[in-house]
Amino acid sequence: MASSMSRRDWLKASTLLTSGFTFLSGPLTSVAAPASPANMEGSKFLTEREFYRQEIPDLKARLFANENPFGPSDKAKQAIIDSLAKSYQYPFMDIAAMIDKITAYEGLKPNMVLMSSGSSPILHGAANYYCKPGDSVVTADPSYADLPTHAEDFKAKWIKVPLTKEFSLDLDAMEKAIDSTTKLVYICNPNNPTATIVDAAKLKDFCERVSKKVMVFVDEAYIDYLPDPEKTTLIESVKKGQNIIVARTFSKLYGFAGLRIGYMVAQPKTVELLEPYCVGRIGISGPSIKAAIASYRDKEFLAEALKKTMASKEFLYKTLKDEGYSYIPSSANFVMFEIKMDGQRFVNEMMKRGVGVRFWEFNNKHWCRISIGRMDEMEAFAAAFKELS
Ligand code: PLP
Repeated sequence: MASSMSRRDWLKASTLLTSGFTFLSGPLTSVAAPASPANMEGSKFLTEREFYRQEIPDLKARLFANENPFGPSDKAKQAIIDSLAKSYQYPFMDIAAMIDKITAYEGLKPNMVLMSSGSSPILHGAANYYCKPGDSVVTADPSYADLPTHAEDFKAKWIKVPLTKEFSLDLDAMEKAIDSTTKLVYICNPNNPTATIVDAAKLKDFCERVSKKVMVFVDEAYIDYLPDPEKTTLIESVKKGQNIIVARTFSKLYGFAGLRIGYMVAQPKTVELLEPYCVGRIGISGPSIKAAIASYRDKEFLAEALKKTMASKEFLYKTLKDEGYSYIPSSANFVMFEIKMDGQRFVNEMMKRGVGVRFWEFNNKHWCRISIGRMDEMEAFAAAFKELS
């Protein structure tokens, strides 16, 4: 099994599943967590594939998938309703119209953009194209594991580089970890599950240097949560001709996780090479692309969603502080904090109380990742958490 859990952990988790309980799992208020040698084994968690194999019951608070409950926008919903009558048609022209919108905003050529149903098909396609037996992919650890999990499916090696003491990507160590087998370096910024960011200038320098040797994949799923995404994005570096793939999704701040729209930006040659490996435009539904066109760069909606996310996040920070817990300050719509009991038990106890969260194990500690939801969901979390902490 291509998994970050040991077989024993997985069996333990599966036993929980079949025993009738179906869920597994300001300034750094500061979690002292230096990268330890034990950390070199890599973090433990359920991969996306393992996690979503579970039955997930109705919950008071669905805080396990980094979705945005404040979306999609009203304009997007109306566009879906308006599009239904013509949904017998393939949406080819609408996909072209969406690419026009993206290229006009970003200053790109149309052949530098590949649309797909969410960004996952792009992550999977890149793993498929770049990672053959004997190849390797370098990632931070913990980071979003979907691409390297697929790389392992294709028998490539996953080289995991621990985060820095500040829980940020250790770009120097990642660069050192690249060897002659490395075909892809995966960067997630902001990083999932820690919601930390790397210094934009440092990342740009890293990409400029490293992309001369090996393809760099920059996953910007959460970039819309930053105050200045334009300063952070690597799209500018793609425009300079660098060998970088940038993945974007509507699943997060746009609230489209169930509608499935994403895209990649890369050199025309890379787009051409990857297209056969990704389920690209044919995986996109007509109503979804109409909704994306209606809400792309909708400043008012995006600002409102951000404001509500921040209010819920502040409430969460206060809850954690009041209970004597520290957390990693978040630059996205989720927060990671250290828990004081076994992670699996914590997740199960929260689930019994109608609150879905996830857990990770790294630096010899157990951590909860909680997504930012509506205020009523954060209140449900707080009530359950107070019973456990
Ligand atoms: N990249 C990151 C970092 C994610 O956290 C996720 C989903 O949670 C994805 C990509 C995939 O999202 P989607 O396929 O919905 O675009």
